[in-house]
Amino acid sequence: MAITKTLENGIKIGKAKVTVDIVDKGNPEIRPATPMKPSYITIHNTGNSGRGANAKAHNTYIHNMANLSPKDTGYASWHFSVDDVSIYQHLPLNETAWHTGDGSGPKSGNMTSIGIEICENVDMKDYHQAEENAIALVKYLIENMNGLSVSRIKPHQAWSGKYCPRVILGRDGSFDKFYDRIKKACGAKTATKKPAPSKKSSANEDLGSEVYGTIKVLADHLNIREKADFNSKILSVADKGDTFKVYGQKNGLYYLGSKGYTSSNSKYVKFTKNSSYGAKKAKLVIVKAAELWVYDKADWNAKKDTVKKNEAFTIDKELTVKGSKMYKLKSGLYITANPEYVTVK
Ligand SMILES: [Zn+2]
Repeated sequence: MAITKTLENGIKIGKAKVTVDIVDKGNPEIRPATPMKPSYITIHNTGNSGRGANAKAHNTYIHNMANLSPKDTGYASWHFSVDDVSIYQHLPLNETAWHTGDGSGPKSGNMTSIGIEICENVDMKDYHQAEENAIALVKYLIENMNGLSVSRIKPHQAWSGKYCPRVILGRDGSFDKFYDRIKKACGAKTATKKPAPSKKSSANEDLGSEVYGTIKVLADHLNIREKADFNSKILSVADKGDTFKVYGQKNGLYYLGSKGYTSSNSKYVKFTKNSSYGAKKAKLVIVKAAELWVYDKADWNAKKDTVKKNEAFTIDKELTVKGSKMYKLKSGLYITANPEYVTVK
């Protein structure tokens, strides 16, 4: 039977026991009670590594906040808190929450996604299991709710640029590995788009994992091959207009990561170099001021939302707007580059 509002209290997901403990309505900064048909799941880390900051503590916290008046709280809420032994559900799955920092537009993460917070308290016995429980929860939701799929799982970072889930991003360098774990856990659900398994040939080993650029297919059909060799096995055939990430080039072929290799002939593909290629690591801008505006255009009047002290965002590029410097963030939002308000690392 499809789930619409809540999990079943007391069931086990992963190695966690589920407790459904929905907060009361009343404070719209915690429970907006706005109807939602969730089409995404957003993954977070709590950002609280303090002792005891486990799922139960976050449940207590959100209940306390829900019982305060909005003047004493901020917009902050989410659907699930997960640790190594428990999953708490705080909000109905058919209602929005404030967890993605990208406002209330119809396509925002806040309005379209279920928020899962993975706890990171230092005294947790098995943090890895907390991630596994979150992955099991994602799988459970995909399998039991309408409108969700493995292609609709996002890190918080993808919505607002915030460096979250910070433990996962900090450890893996990006969300990709964690996303692969989700895909793997969901197994059959990914079968349609799964590239043919390609044995790692020695040819890929010296090609990096950094995105070198993208190609768009110009030819009607384009062979994707197993090795950097025009005579090697054809793994799949791309169609005109398809785009791929390119991770390197060898013997006149582009390396497309796990998908394989394809011709670099400009008659067949249009290549666009990744402008940040070679910059070792993405730079982060960290908020120094207590609160700061982010903008949705390169325009000081296009105020979109506020961000708070110590929040960190990945920088795409720097630009000057009306004589003052701004950073364009990977998320597409903009923030001041004034060193009085932000630091870069
Ligand atoms: Zn987050």
